[in-house]
Amino acid sequence: MGTRDWDVVVVGSVNADLVVGVDRRPAPGETVLGSDLATHPGGKGANQAVAAARLGARAGLVGRVGDDGHGELLRRALAADGVDLAHLVTTPGAPTGVALITVGPDGDNSIIVSPGANARLGPDDVAAARAMIAGASVVSFQLEVPLPAVEAAARVAAGAGGRIVLNLSPPAPVPDELLARCDPLVVNEHEAAYLLGEGAPRDPRAMAAELAGSGPRSVVVTLGADGAVVADGTAPGAAAPIRIASPEAEAVDTTGAGDAFTAALCLRLARGDALPDAARYAARAGAAAVRRAGAQSSFPTPDDLPPPPAGL
Ligand code: ADP
Repeated sequence: MGTRDWDVVVVGSVNADLVVGVDRRPAPGETVLGSDLATHPGGKGANQAVAAARLGARAGLVGRVGDDGHGELLRRALAADGVDLAHLVTTPGAPTGVALITVGPDGDNSIIVSPGANARLGPDDVAAARAMIAGASVVSFQLEVPLPAVEAAARVAAGAGGRIVLNLSPPAPVPDELLARCDPLVVNEHEAAYLLGEGAPRDPRAMAAELAGSGPRSVVVTLGADGAVVADGTAPGAAAPIRIASPEAEAVDTTGAGDAFTAALCLRLARGDALPDAARYAARAGAAAVRRAGAQSSFPTPDDLPPPPAGL
């Protein structure tokens, strides 16, 4: 194993979130008026890199933005948190990825993602970023960039002895070879149900146990306000799934909670925590993120973390 110059390197998406509030959504052919447009830095990859850096990680991001104003905005946001952007490539002729978000009166989101430059991330980018990926203690992935890039980067990380964390978001099929490298696979309840298919158990511990038996080295199922369940792969002698409580938090906006959770988990794994301890810390980061509006704007510094829940 070489030296680890980065705690967490994220290979993932970079999007501008374009948000408009509406009283109701337009039917086909209809026009409705909305609020002023708000533009925020987002994308699961960028979010996780920012969340990890804000908690103190030496973080890097491998990704693509377009040669446009949104790309500039995102670069500035990432740089402000100290994310290493040596392998954030500007793509001529492609727009930066955007998420078109309408927020209804109940705070409910409807989202269209236009991947733009994210869709151009490929194995060549991974080859160019090889030293960064191989120099990371933990490499984190989501599925908002093309699978061949994820697979290539996971191979580099595994070859260098790095730890691979995959967030199955948005849910999509993953090859067994990639699944077998995940330590852990991180899913919320919807993503878990997607992977398990029909007849999936409802009980989160049973879900985690079944997923852990399906290939990954370990699994974390996040449960919103109810925290998470952690399960080791079902090697002989593997422990039963462990329930992790989240601190209570007054939820203002849950956007980005999963990204904050996963980033914090990656950081603590990079620092040598066992998975249940890393998940306890991650739950505090997730809880902190729901107390403030937005995604990156809601991510905590170490001082912002709530204490662990009482009795644990
Ligand atoms: P996702 O955003 O991917 O759907 P979750 O909603 O499961 O993920 O949230 C991720 C983590 O954030 C949870 O495991 C929990 O620790 C924390 N969290 C989310 N919602 C709340 C909440 N309402 N109160 C406290 N913690 C929360």
